[in-house]
This record gives sequence, C-alpha cells and structure tokens, in this order.
Amino acid sequence: MTYNKKSVEDIDVAGKRVLVRCDFNVPVKDGVITDDKRIVGAMQTINYLIAQGAKVILCSHMGRPHNVLDAELKLDKKEKKKIAELPAEEQEAAAAAALEKGKKDITKLSLKIVADDLAKKGINVTLAKDVVGPDAQAKAAALQNGEVLLLENVRFHAAEEKNDPEFSKALASLAEVYVNDAFGTAHRAHSSTAGVADYLPAVCGYLIQKEIAVMGGALEDPKRPFVAILGGAKVSDKIGVINNLIEKVDTLIIGGGMAYTFFRALGNTTGTSICEEDKLDLARELLAKARAKGVNFLLPVDNVIAREYKEDATFMRIYSDSIPDGWMGLDIGEKTQELYSKTIVGSGTVIWNGPMGVSEWENFASGTKAVAESGAISIIGGGDSAAAVETLGYADKMTHISTGGGASLEFLEGLELPGIACLLDK
Ligand code: ADP
Ligand code: MG
Repeated sequence: MTYNKKSVEDIDVAGKRVLVRCDFNVPVKDGVITDDKRIVGAMQTINYLIAQGAKVILCSHMGRPHNVLDAELKLDKKEKKKIAELPAEEQEAAAAAALEKGKKDITKLSLKIVADDLAKKGINVTLAKDVVGPDAQAKAAALQNGEVLLLENVRFHAAEEKNDPEFSKALASLAEVYVNDAFGTAHRAHSSTAGVADYLPAVCGYLIQKEIAVMGGALEDPKRPFVAILGGAKVSDKIGVINNLIEKVDTLIIGGGMAYTFFRALGNTTGTSICEEDKLDLARELLAKARAKGVNFLLPVDNVIAREYKEDATFMRIYSDSIPDGWMGLDIGEKTQELYSKTIVGSGTVIWNGPMGVSEWENFASGTKAVAESGAISIIGGGDSAAAVETLGYADKMTHISTGGGASLEFLEGLELPGIACLLDK
C-alpha cells in the first residue's frame, strides 16, 4: 500500500474550525497517566494548528467504556437485550446496576485527565462535557482563532465504533476541516477515524505523515539488503506480515515462539515449546515460498530452553535447533544472536516486529537485547516489540518506533488502513 496523502500543511486552516482525531488512549493508574508518550506525540500537529490560527477541536477515545450510548447515559441495545432475558423481577435492579457501571466509566474514562495534562504542557484547552451534544456544539461555535477545545471520549457513543453515518455527520458538523493524527486507530473504520471524512476535507497530521513516509518508504523503496526480523509468540498472528514481506525482503530472520512451529515443520523436535500444530503445512508453504523467491530464511541455530513457562524457571542453552523432551524454547541462543546481529549490521533497511524471546523476563531477554543492540534497526512495529525495546532501554537506537501496534502490523501486511485511505490524495 502506498499512500500519498495531503497533510495539515497542504490545506488552509487559518481561522477554520479543525477537528483533529488524536490517540489520547493513555494508560492510567490510580488517576495518574503512567505514560504520556501519546500526548507528547500529538503536540506537533496541535502546535502547528494553533500557530496557524486554526480553531482546534481535539477528539479521541480512551479505554472501552460500556453501557453508554451517549453522554446522557442510556443503556445500549446489547445491554438492553441482556437485561430483557433476565427474569422480570430482576430486570429493574440489573438496569440500575448497568447504568451505575456506565456512570462510573464516564468518570473513569473521561478525557479530563488528558485535558489537565495538555494544560500542563502549555496548551490552553477547554473540555466539552459531551462529544456532539449541546455543550460541544456551543463551545465549538464559540472558539476563537488559536483556541483549543477537547471533546469527551468519542466511545461514550456506541455509534462511534459502528461508524454510524449520523454520528459521523454530527461530529463533522462541528468543524470545517478534519485532521487524522491517530495512527493507533487508523486500521479501524470508526466515525472519528474514517466516517467523518465523508463530510469534510480530510488530511493527515504529522504523526500519520511520518508513519506513512517511514514504513511506506521502507516497503516500497528499501535500501538493500532489506531485512525483516519477525518474532513474537505465534506464526498465526503474523501470517499476513510474513506473506507480504517475503515478496519484498532479501532476508527473513525468525525468532521468538514462532520459530518452533517452523522447527517442527522441518521435522525437528520442539519439546514443550509453543508450537502451532495446525500451522505446520502453512509453515512449510512459507519456507517453500521463501526458497522459490531466493529469500534467505534464517532460523535459530541454538536456543535458551527452560523447564517451564516461568520467570525463574531452570534454564540452559543448547547448541541445537531441536528441543529435548520436557523443555521449552524461550529465547534464541548466543550463536544465533551473533548470526542475526551480523546480518542486521550489514543491511540497508531493517523492519522488526515481535520479540526474539520472552523478553519480559530477564533470563530470556538476551536475544531481543542483542537484536536491539545491533544498532542498525530502522523501523519497529508491533505493540509488544515497541514496549520491549523501550523497557530494555534501546528506544534511541531505533530510527522509527511505530505509534500503533495493530495498525503497524496491518500496514506491514500491505492492508489498506481505513483511517488513512479516507484522506485526500496529494
Ligand atoms: P508484537 O506485539 O510486537 O507484534 P507479539 O504480540 O507477536 O509481538 O509477541 C509478543 C509476545 O511473544 C511476548 O509476550 C513474548 O513473551 C512472547 N514470546 C516471545 N518468544 C516466545 C517464546 N519462545 N515462547 C513463548 N512466548 C514467546
Ligand atoms: Mg502483541
């Protein structure tokens, strides 16, 4: 998929009401934002729009609020149906309990916490009490040039995730221009991520622009040799990615749990390692495809194996690509690390998705560290891979860490992302 989309710089925003879909879905614990990376990431687009004298209307989802059809708090259809199936005498109490839950969600998943954080970052922002209701409408209409309004959690409306045209229209009616800068939800066709573009001129913000440029650029016009490193738990999660990348890369490096399905497909033993028995034929097909295309397909030559799936499990390294009975592979071994590092260092473009082992546990993080340390990684996609690289302290060695887990996977699969496809072409 190649995208050549208009950005905020390609459209006149001065004095216009601009609706910006951000990814403010930040982790919150005990009322505190534990990681503000996503808010920081949105600042460039917000600051640009303010500087241009736009009337900025920010929106986002946060978490998964339920029971809530709109900000006036009604039960949604699914909830109503569930309650209707209960014995008559229980229905009233169940409805009250569900409403109570919804009310809690409205407080817990309000974007107030984001508004406060934006204020701390120097953005003078007002929070609307609703999304498309009277308060949002009044506040949007009253905006002056350079002022910023934040709408409430778009998922307070069940219509958002249904991409309901009426809801999209209502959102669009608040503004004159739409900017999508939420890469994390760009693979979803929801009202605020795609539907709204049916009613407004739509462009991307800086975050999405960068994702398209870096990932799209690597896939379409890579510097060779082009190497893809794929790991993580399962082959089945990454079939689409492997299939798409096999067409493009010179070398495919496999690590993580998925290596063991390939081992088994080749007739090796895998002990109690994670292995998808029903994917052995597929693994053989992928190996054959790589061979036919002349792609160098690298699998681990040694492994770190453990007695059980536990952080402090007894472990050892074996110089083999077969795993003994009663043991499971939880990381790539040293020889493999050397081989993979050498391959990475000599390459032109590297795309990485999926840790090389159970990198959450120190004893099984060496493989992931070695790959990260090789210092030649260009692009990293995938939620857990990005998190691993950050926790292990190698984030600054990467040229690009994608801001969307699921979205980056779909991008690497070559799938069309509705939140990007809906934007105006250059
Ligand atoms: P991403 O989110 O980057 O796409 P995945 O979700 O596919 O990555 O995989 C991440 C998970 O894979 C991690 O939780 C990690 O512990 C697990 N994993 C990696 N190697 C193994 C292994 N050998 N056995 C079991 N799980 C593994
Ligand atoms: Mg994952």
